[in-house]
Amino acid sequence: MELFSYLEQYGYEQVVFCHDRASGLRAIIAIHDTTLGPALGGCRMWTYASEEDALLDALRLARGMTYKAAAAGLNLGGGKTVVIGNPKTDKSEALFRALGRYIQSLGGRYITAEDVGTDVRDMDLIHLETDYVTGVSQAYGSSGNPSPMTALGVFRGLQATARQVFGTDDVAGRTVAIQGLGSVGFALAQLLHEHGARLIVTDINQEALARAKSELDAEVVAPADILSVPCDILAPCALGGVLNDDTIPKLRCQAIAGSANNQLADDRHGDLLHERGILYAPDFVINAGGLINVADELEGYHPERARKKVEGIYEIMRNLYDLAQREGIPSHRAANRLAEQRIETMRQVRSSFIRGEKSALGRKGDGRG
Ligand code: NAD
Repeated sequence: MELFSYLEQYGYEQVVFCHDRASGLRAIIAIHDTTLGPALGGCRMWTYASEEDALLDALRLARGMTYKAAAAGLNLGGGKTVVIGNPKTDKSEALFRALGRYIQSLGGRYITAEDVGTDVRDMDLIHLETDYVTGVSQAYGSSGNPSPMTALGVFRGLQATARQVFGTDDVAGRTVAIQGLGSVGFALAQLLHEHGARLIVTDINQEALARAKSELDAEVVAPADILSVPCDILAPCALGGVLNDDTIPKLRCQAIAGSANNQLADDRHGDLLHERGILYAPDFVINAGGLINVADELEGYHPERARKKVEGIYEIMRNLYDLAQREGIPSHRAANRLAEQRIETMRQVRSSFIRGEKSALGRKGDGRG
């Protein structure tokens, strides 16, 4: 891979290779774009097949975070860390403290968080060396488990989607098919049930299915059938890549609104959905509740304020669908445009000189005091 051409093509700012002999740390911090504010993005630990795979993952995920934060209206840029190693066997205090020191050395340009392969204990270790970390123990003022907030955001985004398709955001009597009743899927199912929706669900976990049946009056179908059941709205809340050449022709829904990351196997599948007249709620916009929640920690976590901001996903989705309609483009392309437009506009707005300018994070100056 030609690294600098890749960075140039997608507008990356910085890539940091971190090596620490004593702890065995091998990590890559990718900072994509900090126009809106410091780059926030999780720290992934994984046994990558090659160093190039690790680098590409860091780059791809960092860029995704720029779009997600921008579309969510946050004053944050996009970044990501990958640690090369086995999360089951290679973790140590020294490893995460060494990483924490590298993060500290970036002076707040990058703020880390949990991701696949890391957890709150690892964040606490990083926190011993730097304040530029979110998702630490609640005793340190963390926002806790993000899944309920993600589910709330998906619910509000689903309502905006229903309004676009059915003319009302009232989900009472609507049939919603949910793939995956995990932390987000089950909480979403509860919200939908409270609001009178009819649920069709699937999971590979029998316990979750039994609970959904008894507590939420849900109809259970086999995992292989969920994407083709007739329903008003399909909510993928389990795996990525579920909207692809095989599944799209089988869909019998009018809209798709779920939490799973990377639902479209490829961008062109968003175009295919558009051609089929199925409205797709872009995943990185509708599932931003967890990010919005964790970002609130940067100003001293305030649950009610965070909740209000997460509820704002409703308005964001409405704007996105308006833009898509106005421009005659599929919703996933409108989402990218919305994010890019915000970054570009803010770049221009903030180009004038003001003495002692507030940082992007507002009152706290550099965000973490
Ligand atoms: P989770 O692991 O708690 O839940 C996933 C559920 O999907 C599990 O119950 C699992 O049994 C089920 N599942 C796995 N394979 C399946 C299959 N083939 N068919 C049906 N069900 C299957 O994860 P989560 O935190 O609820 O996240 C769900 C999705 O939302 C993921 O794609 C995640 O990346 C995304 N997401 C989560 C958050 C969050 O705050 N947790 C934020 C943004 C995006």
